[in-house]
Amino acid sequence: MITTFQIRLEPAGGSFACRSDQTVLDAAVEAGYWLPHSCRGGSCGSCMLALVAGEVQHSAAEQATAVSTLVAGHCLTCQAQPRSDLVLEAPGMAAEPGQRVVKAAARVMAVTRPSADVVIVKVQVPAQAGWQFKAGQYAEVVLRDGTRRSYSMANAPNEQGEIEWHVRRIEGGRFSPHAYDALKARDLLRIEGPFGDFTLKPGSAPVILLASGTGYAPIAALLATHGAELAARGATLYWGGRRPSDLYALDSEAAWLDRYPGIKIVPVYSEGNAETGAQASVRSGFVHQAVLDDHADLSAHQVYACGNPLMIDAAKAEFTARAGLKPDCFFSDAFVFRA
Ligand SMILES: Cc1cc2nc3c(=O)[nH]c(=O)nc-3n(C[C@H](O)[C@H](O)[C@H](O)COP(=O)(O)OP(=O)(O)OC[C@H]3O[C@@H](n4cnc5c(N)ncnc54)[C@H](O)[C@@H]3O)c2cc1C
Repeated sequence: MITTFQIRLEPAGGSFACRSDQTVLDAAVEAGYWLPHSCRGGSCGSCMLALVAGEVQHSAAEQATAVSTLVAGHCLTCQAQPRSDLVLEAPGMAAEPGQRVVKAAARVMAVTRPSADVVIVKVQVPAQAGWQFKAGQYAEVVLRDGTRRSYSMANAPNEQGEIEWHVRRIEGGRFSPHAYDALKARDLLRIEGPFGDFTLKPGSAPVILLASGTGYAPIAALLATHGAELAARGATLYWGGRRPSDLYALDSEAAWLDRYPGIKIVPVYSEGNAETGAQASVRSGFVHQAVLDDHADLSAHQVYACGNPLMIDAAKAEFTARAGLKPDCFFSDAFVFRA
């Protein structure tokens, strides 16, 4: 009997269906995920991926030719047929089918410092790299030793290969102090991306946008790209920082949003109240608490949260437990550190 299983690709989170009489590679390519491969005969090993969860059966041909190539805990996707749902480690695969992950040298076009610890970096990816992204995704900066730092695109997708990042300077960090203190126009950065699926999901549900600090970056991209849709659905941005200067783009965002009466901004300061710009109304305390103060019932909402991982965990736990938010209506990108 032929059964259909779901295959999930980590870390980006793309997924597709695969029949039990199909190879994982065939199903992936059919679905628009161009997994690495070469010979398709089970002998070169280039399609080998780590099997994080689930069971596969390799074809009889593979038993003869590829056993020597196969590393324990891995599968050869050109030969493996699923016997359960699978989770595969596929670094470099985008979350969305048909979207290529690009490696490129991007040129820094402009660097501005809107606050004492946030730098806005604009870079341009050369046209021949074929760089494309969706609002809400991030790119990785590849450092000299190959380690990576992730930064969310803060601008709307465009044909010119332009990217804007908002980087908070972390004292003692490898990359962010360099970005704040030394990065300048004409410098080159090795980048790879796009990654992530923190994108606006379809529907008509009203939206809560929740950001701490530079967690505002991908939300700025969502606003710039989907302003009219968010206004029609009804959206409120709760943006949290310790003090007003942490909300480094508040005035310009509030002015820009004047054209969308359906979108509101609520700045929230954890170190107490102070002056703000535009017509924004000011709140103090934890940013996720401000949402709960305003919304006893979130059962009809979608929530998009980005920034500090502790804020995101608290928001998800409390919104679902106390305000009836459906867990699958909470979308987030946590700024976790990489060792
Ligand atoms: C998907 C994703 C998207 C991201 N997008 C952005 C973004 O748009 N803007 C942005 O500013 N950052 C973003 N980050 C975080 C970013 O990738 C880096 O982790 C951050 O800039 C620190 O890098 P670093 O090299 O300066 O510090 P590291 O060398 O990584 O860290 C040095 C020390 O600082 C500590 N540290 C690192 N980060 C923080 C922090 N945020 N707060 C407190 N202590 C810290 C670490 O524990 C470590 O001890 C994102 C992270 C992820 C996973």
